[in-house]
Amino acid sequence: MVAPVNADIVIVGGGCAGLSLAAQLGLGGRARTRRVLVLEPRREYTRDRTWCYWPVEPHLFADAVSDRWSRWELLAPGRRVERGAARLPYVQLPGDAFYRAARARLAAAGIELHLGVHVDRLDDRGDHVLVDSSAGTVRASLVFDSRPGAPPDPSELTLLQHFVGWELRAPRPVFTPGLATLMDFTPSQRGGLHFFYVLPYAADRALVEATYFTPALLPDDAYDAAIRGYLRERFGLEDFEILMRERGVIPMTTAPAAPRQSPRIYNLGLRGGVAKASTGYAFLAIQRTTRDLARRLRDAPPGALIEPPEPRGALAVAMDRVFLSQIARYPERAPDLFLDLFEKLPPELLIRFLSDQATPVEAMRVMASTPLAAMTREVLRSRARWLRPAVAAPRT
Ligand SMILES: Cc1cc2nc3c(=O)[nH]c(=O)nc-3n(C[C@H](O)[C@H](O)[C@H](O)COP(=O)(O)OP(=O)(O)OC[C@H]3O[C@@H](n4cnc5c(N)ncnc54)[C@H](O)[C@@H]3O)c2cc1C
Repeated sequence: MVAPVNADIVIVGGGCAGLSLAAQLGLGGRARTRRVLVLEPRREYTRDRTWCYWPVEPHLFADAVSDRWSRWELLAPGRRVERGAARLPYVQLPGDAFYRAARARLAAAGIELHLGVHVDRLDDRGDHVLVDSSAGTVRASLVFDSRPGAPPDPSELTLLQHFVGWELRAPRPVFTPGLATLMDFTPSQRGGLHFFYVLPYAADRALVEATYFTPALLPDDAYDAAIRGYLRERFGLEDFEILMRERGVIPMTTAPAAPRQSPRIYNLGLRGGVAKASTGYAFLAIQRTTRDLARRLRDAPPGALIEPPEPRGALAVAMDRVFLSQIARYPERAPDLFLDLFEKLPPELLIRFLSDQATPVEAMRVMASTPLAAMTREVLRSRARWLRPAVAAPRT
């Protein structure tokens, strides 16, 4: 990149949201009439994460899905729930396949992806934005920022969803292909709400993750020890080959989403508050919001300010805040709460709820499948949190 340069749109961060928005902008060849730059510090893309979701809506990268599970189970001490939905399997999209597909779309649309570029500062000057980066300064009409954001305001209720996962090959068949373990709460909950997640690809190969919903992270070796202990206890595995490692920290918060930093600087992805407060899932919401954003940009004259879409509806946000509040107050009750939801609700209804597509009547059915007295108390106690707007007021 030669500095200073001009661009219509600068996307800061070429991760899931940045590449998704760029790919959407490339649809229909319109990007060729505008200069779109994506600035990303990494120099190469690897399989650094694995996205899973229920495919309730189409999106640009659906062809990159690699695996599907039409049955899933949840476990807690003395309890097991198995459910499934043949028409709506739980699917996996590996990070490397997503990055490859997105980069191919950018290249075809003439969108510039600059790797090895670190953005240090954004300055909204009223009629343009100055983007200071390790490769120089760019003057842009609009900027979309997906860099990791500051932690939520301490007055908000925030839990961290933190996890480490290993894809591993076992020396003998121990996994059940076709059956995903979404949450296994049977190991000790002494350190806070904690479960394992197992996605079997074959009888001897699976992704196994240790996940925690707690206020603080653990020392690195605690995740590894937890996974090793689980593999020993549940599968009798002592020796195995680790094929891939991933780790993540996703804030689950009652903070309102913040789709805008200033009139010309928009927040994208996790920074914009797309992670679902009660589960941390974000992939489909990123696809939905970047599609809507790109449509609004394509429909507006170049450089015009647009209204960013809300990541999710007010009802979904209010319910997530109540659930998060209940989980944070009574982590020891969370395993039964999750197992009840999966046991009592028709799978497709629960999937719509988890994917923010439940109607108000369906949302009421979800509430009714929880311990009603406790949940009603939580609705009353947490009203100051869930009654607030889903989206922060824009800064002017
Ligand atoms: C390991 C892992 C597994 C996950 N699994 C799921 C899942 O199964 N289902 C689901 O729905 N969600 C999942 N998520 C949550 C969410 O979908 C992902 O975190 C997703 O990548 C968020 O997209 P993003 O664009 O907001 O952030 P990212 O994809 O992390 O992108 C942010 C980008 O900003 C770049 N950046 C950082 N600093 C700078 C800088 N100074 N200048 C320029 N760029 C910068 C980074 O290099 C990165 O590319 C997972 C997250 C992780 C970490």
